[in-house]
Amino acid sequence: GVCRVIEEKCTECGQCVDGCPVTALELPKVSSAETTVAEATENETVKPQQQDKPAEKAVQLKGELAAYQGVWVFIEQREGIVAPVSLELLGAGRQLADKLGVELCGVLLGDQVSGLVNMLYEYGADKVYLAEHPLLHFYRTETYMKIFVELVQQYKPEIILMGATTTGRDLAGAVATDLATGLTADCTGLDIDLEQRLLLATRPAFGGNIMATILCKKHRPQMATVRPKVMKMAAPVPGRRGELIISEVNLQEEKLLTKVLEIVKEQGEQVNLQEAEIIVAGGRGLGDRENFRKLCFGLAEAIGGKVGASRAAVEAGWIEQKYQVGQTGVTVAPKIYFALGISGAIQHLVGIRGSDIIIAINSDPEAPIFKECTYGIVGDVFTIVPLLIEQLKEKGG
Ligand code: FAD
Repeated sequence: GVCRVIEEKCTECGQCVDGCPVTALELPKVSSAETTVAEATENETVKPQQQDKPAEKAVQLKGELAAYQGVWVFIEQREGIVAPVSLELLGAGRQLADKLGVELCGVLLGDQVSGLVNMLYEYGADKVYLAEHPLLHFYRTETYMKIFVELVQQYKPEIILMGATTTGRDLAGAVATDLATGLTADCTGLDIDLEQRLLLATRPAFGGNIMATILCKKHRPQMATVRPKVMKMAAPVPGRRGELIISEVNLQEEKLLTKVLEIVKEQGEQVNLQEAEIIVAGGRGLGDRENFRKLCFGLAEAIGGKVGASRAAVEAGWIEQKYQVGQTGVTVAPKIYFALGISGAIQHLVGIRGSDIIIAINSDPEAPIFKECTYGIVGDVFTIVPLLIEQLKEKGG
C-alpha cells in the first residue's frame, strides 16, 4: 500500500507529485535521506521540496518531532460509562508504547469522572490526564477539542488513538485540524516502525481493494481512529496503579458557541451487532425480502443469534442500514458468523475478520467467501438453511 517514485527513472520534473490525486508522492532525490512513502497529512498538499538546504530543514524537523513522546488514548465516556473501544485501544496502545519504550496515557474528560481512573490503570495506562468540569458533562466538539488540544500542546504525545465512534470521529477530526497534523481514520492494524520511530497505520483504501499502511512523517502527534471490536480488549490487571495528572479547566458557558438543549435517546429497536456472539447475515443470494426474513431471522431465532446483512441486501431494501456489516457498516467479532448467500467482497470481509468462526453457505464454489471462512458449505441456501433450522429446533436450539 505504499506509493513511491522509481528512483532510477525519476527526472525530478515533479509532474507526478502535482498530478497525484491523493498527494501520496514525494521526489526521492530532494527528500533528504528518507525513503519515499505515502504521506498521511490530509490537511496539507505535499509539494516538491525544491527549497534551499533540505538537509538543514530535515535536521530541524527531526528535532521538533523528537520533543513528542508517549502514546495517548482518548477515554470516551458517557454518563460515567467508559466506551469499550477505549479499553480496547488501551490494549493496542500498550503494545505500541512498549515497542517505543514510552508511557501509555489515558486522557479522560468529563464531569465527576475521577472514579474511572483506577480502571484505566488496570487496563494498561501508566498515566491518566484528567480534566473535569460541569461543562464537560456532555460531549461538545468545542469544549472537548479545546481541552484536548491544550493538553497536547503542553505534554506533546507522539501518538493519539481514539475510537471511531460518533464522538471519537468528531473529536479526532477537530483535534487533527486544529493541530495541523495527520489523522488516519478507521485503522484495522497499528504497529511501529522502530527504525524511523513512526506509527504504521493500516486501513483499507481505494474502496477496500488494497490495504494501505499510512505514515505521518513530518507532523506530530500521529493520530489514528479504530472502530470498536477491531482490537481485542486486554485482560485488566486488578490493583495496577499509575500516575494521575489533573488538568485545570477554564471554560465559561457564555463563551461557547454551542448549547446542549436536550439529549434525545434514539427510539426503536437497538441493534447491537458489535456485542453479538452469534450473527446470521444474509446477502443478495437470498433472492428477495421475504426469503431474507424467513431464512435469516429463522436461523437467528433457532440458534439464539442476531441478524446482519451485506450491503446488497440493505440496498435491495430487505433490511435497514443499521444491520449492515462491513466497511461502511459495522465491524463485528462474534463467536460464530453465518454468511448466507454472501459472495465475500473485500468490503464485507473487513467487517467480519474478527469472528472466531465463519460459516459460509453459497452455491458458487468459487465465491471468495470460501477463502476466508472456517467452514464452507457449497449449496443452495433454500435447501440447507430450512434443514438447519429444523435440526436446531428439534434439538431445542
Ligand atoms: P453478491 O456479491 O451479489 O453475492 C451474492 C452471492 O449469493 C453470490 O456469491 C452467489 O453465488 C450467492 N448465491 C446466489 N444464489 C444462492 C443460493 N440460492 N444459495 C446460496 N448462495 C447463493 N458490502 C458490504 O456487505 N458491506 C459494506 O460495508 C460495504 N461497503 C462498501 C463500500 C464501498 C466503498 C464499496 C465500493 C462497496 C461496499 N460494499 C459493501 C459492497 C460490496 O462490494 C459487495 O457489492 C457486496 O458486499 C455484495 O453483497 P452480496 O455478497 O450480498 O452480493
